[in-house]
Amino acid sequence: MKLYNSLSHEKEEFVPHEPGKVSMYTCGPTVYHFAHIGNLRSYIMEDVLEKYLRYVGYDVKRVMNITDVGHLTSDADEGEDKMLKGAKRENKTVLEIAKFYTDAFFEDCRKLNIKRPDVVEPATKCIGEFIKVIKGLLEKGYAYEAGGNIYFDTSKLDNYYAFHNFEEEDLQDGVREGVEKDENKKNKADFVLWFTKSKFDDQELKWNSPWGVGYPGWHIECSCISMKHLGEYLDIHCGGIDNAFPHHTNEIAQSEAYVGHKWCNYWFHVLHLNTNSGKMSKSKGEFLTVSLLESKGYDPIVYRFFCLQSHYRKSLVFTYENLDNAKIAYDKLIARIAQLTPGEANEAKVEELCRGFGEAMDNDMNTSLAVTAIYDILKADAADADKLAALDKIDYVMGLNLLSAAAKVREANAMSNIDPELLAKIEALIAERLEAKKAKDYARADEIRGELTAMGVAIKDTKDGTEFKLV
Ligand code: AMP
Ligand code: ZN
Repeated sequence: MKLYNSLSHEKEEFVPHEPGKVSMYTCGPTVYHFAHIGNLRSYIMEDVLEKYLRYVGYDVKRVMNITDVGHLTSDADEGEDKMLKGAKRENKTVLEIAKFYTDAFFEDCRKLNIKRPDVVEPATKCIGEFIKVIKGLLEKGYAYEAGGNIYFDTSKLDNYYAFHNFEEEDLQDGVREGVEKDENKKNKADFVLWFTKSKFDDQELKWNSPWGVGYPGWHIECSCISMKHLGEYLDIHCGGIDNAFPHHTNEIAQSEAYVGHKWCNYWFHVLHLNTNSGKMSKSKGEFLTVSLLESKGYDPIVYRFFCLQSHYRKSLVFTYENLDNAKIAYDKLIARIAQLTPGEANEAKVEELCRGFGEAMDNDMNTSLAVTAIYDILKADAADADKLAALDKIDYVMGLNLLSAAAKVREANAMSNIDPELLAKIEALIAERLEAKKAKDYARADEIRGELTAMGVAIKDTKDGTEFKLV
């Protein structure tokens, strides 16, 4: 598989550190509010990458952090601490806020068929790990104490700007209005590893450390959580493009200073989902969440389909018109799949049908072409059963509910075409069965179920009565 690597700015053949195994790390959400659908674009594309690696046979271990403390990087940080702001807004403690929005995040993921990573680790559970690594950095001379805080000294590295695309002048503190300068820093790019003193001193959560009571900076958490679960060599690190600088740049700086060798080989960055008016935001304009889309009648999977129609390295504009177009295309696609007749598939033929999908994905995860490959399978000269099996196979990666949604359409079609006489007969038998059950005549009730089965009718008793479908 070829993957674009932000480190080299080139598509490279993906070769993991250990044959057959892939270690993968994903920057998780800051759990102070719901995720917006832009955040979720990143997680959808990362999910597709993980599943494709599994699809081609790798044994993948994926780790994600939850930022429930320490979103600050220095005293020059803009505005309030996000977690504290969330807690104040909702009159809850920081940990209550973190739990609520962590659960909400995974609920959104479930609706979007995003698999939960193998390890999900909240930052508050790893304080000991942070302290250990910060101590190591101080001992090796990569960190210094100033004004009560511990800073990483970026001047100690030959190549701090690992992604090569930032100019020193662009990084001056205070270039953005309202951002204060942190006077303690020796170099503009230095960042805080551990705070004991800050203008954000109303932090709820603080811990003892060799440098006094305080809390970690943001960047250290990802390096430590990754190394804790995946060791000193990481194959793929994922995240949205906004995190390349400074977050990922700082992760590389501190991790490599600590382990003394190259840490992560491939950096996978997802470009942003924007609105017509620019950057997606949780505070300005419409706050676009999965629940909002559902309340407007959209199946979350339509949003996943919308994301897969574009390549992850292109920014994407969200409008309801674009989403409607995706919905129309998705519904048509499912209707076509619903016309296929299930049966026994031929393994070799299925492999052949999946080839186009594999080629698209091997080329830097081109999901847009992978969607085209779905249509190619439908058009192919092959048996319906083989097409269905191929679609099922690739849907492990695409996560579009291709077969289950088609089965629902098939059921609905069968019900709407049902002969009225047959319908009356089924309803009469169901009513008679209910009476038999009430009269405790279970033999007759079973007999009726048998009659219905013989007619090709499956029944299911629910708290609202008996449902049936034609099978
Ligand atoms: P956060 O919760 O702010 O830490 O962000 C979670 C993830 O969403 C990170 O990987 C961000 O890089 C990513 N992200 C933030 N905004 C967008 C956006 N508009 N489109 C795509 N990904 C985003
Ligand atoms: Zn991170």
